[in-house]
Amino acid sequence: MSRPYHEVERYRQSKDITIRGECPNPIQFFEEANFPEYVMRSIKQQGFDFPTAIQAQGWPIALSGKNMVGIAQTGSGKTLAYMLPAIIHVKNQPRIQRGDGPIVLVLAPTRELAQQIQQVSNEFGSPNGVRSTCVFGGAPKGPQARDLERGVETVIATPGRLIDFLERGTTNLRRCTYLVLDEADRMLDMGFEPQIRKIMSQIRPDRQVLMWSATWPKEVRKLAEDFLADYVQVNIGSLELAANHNIQQIVEVVQENDKQDRLVALLEEIGSDRLERTIIFVETKRKVEAIANGLKRIGWPAVSIHGDKSQNERDYVLRDFRRGKSLILVATDVAARGLEAPNGVWIIPYDMTR
Ligand code: ADP
Ligand code: MG
Repeated sequence: MSRPYHEVERYRQSKDITIRGECPNPIQFFEEANFPEYVMRSIKQQGFDFPTAIQAQGWPIALSGKNMVGIAQTGSGKTLAYMLPAIIHVKNQPRIQRGDGPIVLVLAPTRELAQQIQQVSNEFGSPNGVRSTCVFGGAPKGPQARDLERGVETVIATPGRLIDFLERGTTNLRRCTYLVLDEADRMLDMGFEPQIRKIMSQIRPDRQVLMWSATWPKEVRKLAEDFLADYVQVNIGSLELAANHNIQQIVEVVQENDKQDRLVALLEEIGSDRLERTIIFVETKRKVEAIANGLKRIGWPAVSIHGDKSQNERDYVLRDFRRGKSLILVATDVAARGLEAPNGVWIIPYDMTR
């Protein structure tokens, strides 16, 4: 669907969608997705009016065959964001033959989640002959093994039980070309990283990988870098909030003399990937100047505001900061009053008097 750029941008902004990488336009209405008739029928049956933000922006990426990372809160509709493209993916592949493993593999951290996902997969897939099964630990292997041996297009699995079946040769991943890592953050929290890596090593390199998570901590980022290589990232809501589950506060007690060094180290941490917008709150005008100048001297693009600057200058500085033109703002409390805290900004209260 071609829409003027500014309309696409407006939609993304209104849904708090941010993207990294080359990204097709979001699918704002179900009718734009070119889903087959039977998928549309299921959507109508569910009574959904519009795609959720992660679906709107996730679908066109998933459908284009690219690797992607989708970060969005629980309850934002991630399951269908990967499941509908999965169904289309299966329909575009040669049918599975005797002895073939699944085309779509979804890894999930727990039995309950795997079962929920399978329910969705069934609702939308089975009307069109996309069969799925669910394998997880803590239940007898017999029935799960029989399903796998009979052949299914989609397998939803917890990592341990899947490895078990792979090692026994009950199934294989030679046909797997669409891999979903759902709740990647939780899987890592639960210690599944070695299992995930083991499973990945059995999947052909030309697979499409889609990773989903509610948060975006370092470990998840590392996994994405190791296995997705080139990927498009979609975020719903603030990246920094996602990185920290919630607003995270880190309090450090630093001697006055060491503060400047610690500040630089902190900025280096924040900017290790890509410098994000950062506000440094300071007590006095003099200190604002000193810190901003100190940062500029060592190459950080800092701007500053405080009460002695003209309204004009303050407006100008704030405007550039909001637009992301300048990334580091040093300010006194007073001067920054009225600056609605924009989303996804690091706040460093340099002086602990706030
Ligand atoms: P997540 O995986 O992001 O936590 P789910 O995929 O489990 O979210 O979806 C949460 C709920 O939202 C489910 O009950 C699902 O049926 C519902 N849902 C999914 N897509 C839509 C939509 N487009 N419109 C309304 N509700 C939706
Ligand atoms: Mg989910």
